[in-house]
Amino acid sequence: MFRNVSVSIFVIVLFVSASELRAQRILPFPTHESFAASAEAQRYVAAAMELAQSDLIEEANSYCSATGPRRPALNREADGGAPLEDYQLEPIKVFENLYYVGFNDVGAWVIPTSDGIILMDTLNSTAEARDVLVPGIEKIGLDPAQIKHIIIGHGHNDHVGGAAYLQETYGAQVHITEADWDLSFSSETADRPRPIKDRVVTDGQELTLGDTTLTLVLTPGHTDGTLAVLAPVNHLGRTHTIFIFSGTWMTSQESRLVFEHVFDDFGRPMGAESAISGHPGILVNKIEYWDQLGREYPTGPHPLLLGKERFDRYMSIMLECGSARLAAMEDSPDRMTRP
Ligand SMILES: [Zn+2]
Repeated sequence: MFRNVSVSIFVIVLFVSASELRAQRILPFPTHESFAASAEAQRYVAAAMELAQSDLIEEANSYCSATGPRRPALNREADGGAPLEDYQLEPIKVFENLYYVGFNDVGAWVIPTSDGIILMDTLNSTAEARDVLVPGIEKIGLDPAQIKHIIIGHGHNDHVGGAAYLQETYGAQVHITEADWDLSFSSETADRPRPIKDRVVTDGQELTLGDTTLTLVLTPGHTDGTLAVLAPVNHLGRTHTIFIFSGTWMTSQESRLVFEHVFDDFGRPMGAESAISGHPGILVNKIEYWDQLGREYPTGPHPLLLGKERFDRYMSIMLECGSARLAAMEDSPDRMTRP
């Protein structure tokens, strides 16, 4: 009897700590041990590896881990290594109509259109927007005064930090989801003022500027209001659709279902061929491809375009691996780690 009582207390303590984690917005993940030990999780891993065939093995291995793909800097620190040095990169022409401006660890996306610029994300602060992003846009040969729209992938500092400065300086409209408007407001500092609330992004909303239409979808998980963009990108006379993600963590069954909806109702019907992240090294934009693109724009097949069939399997792999992590957490709720 005493044993039962102590077990119940133990379970209550665990329950409280899991909800506290959520309250503190610390995302729970299974430990490496509980991920490996969960038979249910490993069934999903096996399904992902089957989808990977021989050409997506590395991607499936990266996804089907306790935390899923993480920024190289976080991986190094988790392995006990020294923090990765953060340095500024020269602007990278990723596609003919998509540029990356920023640092090795985080950047902003510049999308030139026939009627001005759409920007996604704004680096960490007013100072970085002014001293890194704006000069980077000029270096590409574009005029920062032409920034018309700013999409914020999610409300963390490294994405929203420079938004207010760019909004005020160039009169650009800022687009954030309802949930993350509030999140971005909570981290206001002198060098990171709040943007004025312009546009609330809803799921499936289109944003057209000149000849370019982006599709915005909601992908809650990393934050409640994380969004992704489906963007038409041009390469050697052809237009392809890719995802620009701002977070792909499926932290609950609900968020996994949302990703399934995004893939089934947008990614697959639109023939998406790639997924890239503003933190290089996480998705299809591996560091080696980033270095390659930084040296020279490809004159043949593009390293970031997987093609429709392969990317169709890539999306399914993401879902299987998301299910695997959730199964491991449900199997041993006491054994969780933070990202
Ligand atoms: Zn974040």
